[in-house]
Amino acid sequence: MTKLTFYGGVNEIGGNKVLLEEGDRGLFLDFGFPYKRHKRFYEEYLNPRSGAGLLDPLAMGLLPPLAGLYRDDLVTRGLWERFRDNPLYRELKRVDGMLLTHAHLDHSGYISFLRADIPIYSTAVTAFIAKAMQDSGKSGLEQQVCYFNPTVLDHPKGWKQVAWFSESKVPSQQRQFCIYDRNLEALSPDAIRFWQSGFWEKTAKQKELISCQLAAHSGCSFNLRCFPVDHSVPGACAWGIETSSGWVIYSGDLRLHGKRSSLTQKFIEEASALRPRALILEGTNVLREANFTEHEVYENALKAIGKASSLVISDFSPRDVDRLLTFLQIARDTGRKLAILPKDAYLLKTMRLLEPETPDVAQDDNLVIYQDTISKPGNWMLNLCKEYDSKIVLAKDIGSEQDKFILCFSFLDINELPSIRPRPGSLYLFSSSEPHDEEQEIDFRRLRNWLEHFGIRSFGLPVEINGEWRIPDEEKGLHASGHACGPDLLRVAREIKPEVLIPIHSENSYFYVEKLNGSGIKVRLPEVGGVVEI
Ligand SMILES: [Zn+2]
Repeated sequence: MTKLTFYGGVNEIGGNKVLLEEGDRGLFLDFGFPYKRHKRFYEEYLNPRSGAGLLDPLAMGLLPPLAGLYRDDLVTRGLWERFRDNPLYRELKRVDGMLLTHAHLDHSGYISFLRADIPIYSTAVTAFIAKAMQDSGKSGLEQQVCYFNPTVLDHPKGWKQVAWFSESKVPSQQRQFCIYDRNLEALSPDAIRFWQSGFWEKTAKQKELISCQLAAHSGCSFNLRCFPVDHSVPGACAWGIETSSGWVIYSGDLRLHGKRSSLTQKFIEEASALRPRALILEGTNVLREANFTEHEVYENALKAIGKASSLVISDFSPRDVDRLLTFLQIARDTGRKLAILPKDAYLLKTMRLLEPETPDVAQDDNLVIYQDTISKPGNWMLNLCKEYDSKIVLAKDIGSEQDKFILCFSFLDINELPSIRPRPGSLYLFSSSEPHDEEQEIDFRRLRNWLEHFGIRSFGLPVEINGEWRIPDEEKGLHASGHACGPDLLRVAREIKPEVLIPIHSENSYFYVEKLNGSGIKVRLPEVGGVVEI
């Protein structure tokens, strides 16, 4: 008997956390950050208190109360007594690992809280992107996916607080990532160096790394299969787990209309050949009839940018490397340069360690790096900007030749505009995710204020109609979703043909119940914290 417990991703997009158990051993399928649930209680300046360790995310229902699963250094005295009466409370004896599908935080974000000796299984690209994101991102508790500084209890004199977490006095730890899709011997010395180094230089207080290196698949008692699939971030995969009830397939996020749809197609064929007992399938876009393709995005954006006479700002997730390539091509076609941020250049440099066909910032005439106005650049940024010295542009360079650039900004970079001084008639292209992004919620009202203030025209930006943000029909087609549409998802389900289908990562799971009626596939709708036995 195999048990699946759904701790996240139920009737919500993102936050996937599924525990698969057989006897006394278990595996987690993703361990993501629950954006929507988090937003019910928190906002920019109101966050879980890092000094309270696990208390806040547990008390607010963001993390399941599973004793034995989390980092010891985050467990305050008496913590578990408080949650013993919670209906979801359990002590977990043995977790063999966490199967990570891709490096979007709604799937990976809460790895930060997991015990360091729980190995993370992923593709090499996912592991490297996760590390690049952590190296170049914010340094909060919820960003510690690949490595972390254990906190220690301290009682400064004159301070009555029971638990006070200070800066670390113990060495930082790297998590054990088990790379499933590559032979590690084939990794270049530069790739190994990237994985092993860099992060402790961020603050002087961090010390040397202890614990694990990249390791080949080992120590997991389950027979696993890793299937690369196409999604809006490179390196995405689906997983297969062999259980005594048969194969369980977990889709992660996927699409069939992207540039690498052949990967998803191959996954369908190989998963179907296993005659799986169960398929846990995403359903983000079940209600959508069709999706724009990346080529349509290229054509629509080219049309809009071709007419622009001044600065163009394009807003998309740089981790969507397909989209970055689309805009790089448009930059070539329109005689402009694509200006990316240092963290985006760092991501491309990291990707090249594994996929040499990724554009080389140093060599590509149409790529430059926009050095933003920050007070204290980190070491990773200083090193990168030194290496790409001839490719750096500043606000004044862009400001003085506005028709020569496409600037890759997201909403959170918009505060650079006072330095750039965009000329009236500049254009803001919104080529990002759906209004509820997988990694942030954009405050469109505030974004509009910024654009209005600088006299910038927008294209593809959602407007509020009856309380809902929608892109006007005539401005659609600037984004190819990372998620398959309803008809494609039904095709995935019917062709893999599991005995049981369990929807996840969806606000409209009932779609599968209706549409698969009579197909021979039984749909089981999970509940939060509920168990599905298969
Ligand atoms: Zn995703």
